[in-house]
Amino acid sequence: MVVIVRFKVHAQQIIEAGRWIDQQGWCPATGGNFSIRLDASSALVTASGCHKGHLTDDDFLVVNLDGEPLEGHAGRKPSAETLLHTRLYALDTRIGAVLHTHSVASTVLSRLESSDWFELSGYEMQKSLSGNATHDETIRLAVFDNTQDMTSLADQLSARWTDQPLQWGFLVSGHGLYAWGRDMQEARRHLEGLEFLFACALEMRRLGAN
Ligand SMILES: [Zn+2]
Repeated sequence: MVVIVRFKVHAQQIIEAGRWIDQQGWCPATGGNFSIRLDASSALVTASGCHKGHLTDDDFLVVNLDGEPLEGHAGRKPSAETLLHTRLYALDTRIGAVLHTHSVASTVLSRLESSDWFELSGYEMQKSLSGNATHDETIRLAVFDNTQDMTSLADQLSARWTDQPLQWGFLVSGHGLYAWGRDMQEARRHLEGLEFLFACALEMRRLGAN
């Protein structure tokens, strides 16, 4: 019960985000996982296997930045993808919340993208992403091949970050999106903006435009 008492406010932010994300249809069938930074060396993450639209106070664990559980309810374990959340917290101390979703648009677009980057330009909605003041910029999201080896994927993320720090989110091919922000509010805005942009890009491709 320790998690409930100490981190109830943090858990509530994730529960509310989960309800909203579920309403959008971006996390079907227990997919996805969410987290919020607690301090410099730990985060609150959703447990594996629970439906993200119906989270309760029992569905959380505290983990260190290696993704290892520190506190949590008996029988609950962090999802394998926790390591990507905690690696993001380790790579950038300004990141305060991470939302990983499995939407149709991010799943399809990431499969269609054959390069290591997914690029967008010309959309007013790009301004929903922090640091963008105009539709004129080209925004780039890293695309990683999907794998069940999270250590390998986390190391690829670190390598790509060292080359060029990533912003707002990244895609995993045939899998989904990781979006983040300095707090839950910004992470939600980035997720919503990116999903809108993905929907536009998918519609453009459907129409044979790019
Ligand atoms: Zn996933």
